[in-house]
Amino acid sequence: MAGEGEEGGGLLEGSALLGDVESLPRGGFRCRLCHVTVANQPSLDDHLRGKKHQRLENLRTVRQTQERRSVFVSGFRKGTPASELSSYFQAFGEVANVVMDKDKGVYAIVELQSEAVLEKVLAEPQHSLGGQRLRVKPREKKDFKYNPPRKQGAAKREQLSPEKLAQNLCQADDVDAQMSLMVRLFEFSESERRLRDLLVTLFQEVFLEFFPGSAILPFGSSVNGFDVSGCDLDLFLDLEKTKSFQASAKAPNIPQDGASPELDTHSEDSILSDIDLATTTVPEVLELIATVLKKCVPGVHRVQTVLSARRPVVKFCHKESGLRGDVSINNKLALCNTRFLQLCIEADERVRPLVYVVRHWAKQQALAGNPFGGGPLLNNYALTLLVLFFLQMRNPPVLPTVNHLKELSNADEQTTVDGWDCTFPKDSSRLDPSGNKENLCSLLAEFFREFEDYDFAGCVISLREGRPLPRPSLLASEVSNKLKLGPFNLQDPFELSHNVSANVNEKTALRFQRCCRDAAKYCRSLQYQRKSTKGKIWGIVRLFQPGNPEAVATDGFVLNLPLKLSAGPPPPCELLNRAGDLHQAWFQKICAGVAFTLRDVLGCSCFETPQGCGEEAVSSGFQQPEEQIEVKMKLLSAGTKRPLDSEEGEGALSPSAKKSRTDASLPVGESTTWDCSAWQHVWLGRRRVRRQLRGTDLDPTTTENAGSLELEAKVSRLLSQQEGEATPTEPLLRFTVCAQATEAASGEPGPRVRLRFTPALEQAAAFQEFFHFLQGFLPRMVEQYLVSKT
Ligand code: ATP
Ligand code: MG
Repeated sequence: MAGEGEEGGGLLEGSALLGDVESLPRGGFRCRLCHVTVANQPSLDDHLRGKKHQRLENLRTVRQTQERRSVFVSGFRKGTPASELSSYFQAFGEVANVVMDKDKGVYAIVELQSEAVLEKVLAEPQHSLGGQRLRVKPREKKDFKYNPPRKQGAAKREQLSPEKLAQNLCQADDVDAQMSLMVRLFEFSESERRLRDLLVTLFQEVFLEFFPGSAILPFGSSVNGFDVSGCDLDLFLDLEKTKSFQASAKAPNIPQDGASPELDTHSEDSILSDIDLATTTVPEVLELIATVLKKCVPGVHRVQTVLSARRPVVKFCHKESGLRGDVSINNKLALCNTRFLQLCIEADERVRPLVYVVRHWAKQQALAGNPFGGGPLLNNYALTLLVLFFLQMRNPPVLPTVNHLKELSNADEQTTVDGWDCTFPKDSSRLDPSGNKENLCSLLAEFFREFEDYDFAGCVISLREGRPLPRPSLLASEVSNKLKLGPFNLQDPFELSHNVSANVNEKTALRFQRCCRDAAKYCRSLQYQRKSTKGKIWGIVRLFQPGNPEAVATDGFVLNLPLKLSAGPPPPCELLNRAGDLHQAWFQKICAGVAFTLRDVLGCSCFETPQGCGEEAVSSGFQQPEEQIEVKMKLLSAGTKRPLDSEEGEGALSPSAKKSRTDASLPVGESTTWDCSAWQHVWLGRRRVRRQLRGTDLDPTTTENAGSLELEAKVSRLLSQQEGEATPTEPLLRFTVCAQATEAASGEPGPRVRLRFTPALEQAAAFQEFFHFLQGFLPRMVEQYLVSKT
């Protein structure tokens, strides 16, 4: 790493000479040319070597060269054609280009072939054309300016700021109107829908080229009726036909499928000439898809294969629109449940508003809506099923059970997917209208009431039967072996051995109940039921305010990550005098480790701020105290206490005596805060890159000894390079981290450092994924850091 730093220093000098790079306080840099801010020297080096910087540098050089050999010409008659000017100046030498001022026709920029020609032109004391005297002067030198493209996604989100949303909703007449308005405010605009359709068509065309007979089929919220502006674009690439075409093409005796006369999987340039889809593994096919996306679909970037997901996918981003999406190849059941959700919407008009409101409420409470999947929160699909289940359970029911839907189906609607019965009517015309007449206002209140004390752990929610199944009875059934039961059990309506909320942990399940309880209580108030005449917020608006920050911090997001510091360094001798100093030194080292990990290992911007972790931190610009996420890191090990043992004969002390000594010596209240930004998805795909690195340039003899810090820093840089076709001008995530020394919990041998992460407003859900990664990653890295400082 030291070597790389030196090399970077050289790069910096070169660019600094050009005045492109500005040093920022605390080790950061800003590239003025590209409008990019980076956290540290290695990231700056990467940026300066990267495509964007190189492209803009080249563009600047070209423009400056053009400028140097161009003249500014005026005084000619209005309407003079460029060709006439060109002919005139050709008398002095070759003319490369003439650009007319189109609007007014009063000046032109004439680019000459070389500076020598320019000299000749300027040496001529008088120019005239068509009897008009021309004014000819050297072209003004302008600073090269790059205008970053406007972020459409960001503009969209701005329209739906929490304040605007509240304002809009408060103007409605009653809660039912508020709920219906939610749909209109969040659903796709016409242009967004068109854009998605166009993208799907584009994908289809490209994939057909490479995988003859394939079909690209959208599913999920883009098409299931629960669309929210900016939601991801889920695509399923159906390769069934391609496979059978390939198989039949291989077996000359078997007559070829008439539907594919032009199929040629043997030809030299067919991507299928090298692979056999029947035997190729899923990761291999996905790699192929990733290559096609990267190389052949215009406007697609940030392509990444994610194999760790339950259904492996290739993720991508559409540059112009900022739209994120993924392609999977093994997900026919999702097409089926997408159709099921559509049917439920068609069955009753209350379904959509109710789901939109519950989804937004859950997102604001950080209970659901993780856009990247994973983590302990409910995903939007699971949450939607929960609302549908609630509607099946009303009396009379608003929606039929899945079993009842099957009974209503025709013979030609019998469908089995991956061995699961997915039979339900194709359209809602065969469904009887519901006898339930509850309004939306009451249904929403009842939803919260239903789940405020629900025994999520003790039963399995079944949409097939429209009732909770007791766990024991389920254990006897044939699917029980595979169904992964946990604190929240929501059985997929089709893939019965799949608990769609198996990822939800106990804390989230309990918090879900508690948030339902708070919401149910609020729904009993007049503030919920009646429009305020005094201009106060009312109705569903209050539900979208994030919960009590204290409750969130202490109940929902506190995670203990033990930090094993057994290999930690001995404290400096002079600090052994006082335990307080010792702990303070430890605290500072841990802070250094945290900052090092964020900045140097993960490439985040990370600037220490003077503020503490208390009220002041909360009031800073982008913080959202209500969605605080905490990590408590316990300093458990002998590394903290061994020197004390030896000095004070601590080994003989009772646990309570140990604790009181620890308490007395803690620098409790000491805190450090950083303002941070994450610029790239460095938490995705690390394993793959690690594997690549191990297989290539890392010296195998040093890999282990180098510790993970160096390797992980390299992984982050590679990931950034792979992702960063265009270096982002805006960070993906902004957050503060506050490290605070806290008292040891009873029975713990040492002090704690609590790290509190506070994502920027509206970023809590997106931050979840990064945070879950940090939970495992950060303590390991901090530990490595401490060991490396021994
Ligand atoms: P959004 O993207 O707005 O969060 P979504 O419904 O598209 O909502 P995704 O997480 O993108 O949610 O999932 C896309 C689709 O994949 C879902 O609509 C559903 O059809 C299917 N799906 C997602 N998670 C599961 C799951 N745990 N089990 C079965 N199918 C799932
Ligand atoms: Mg989706």
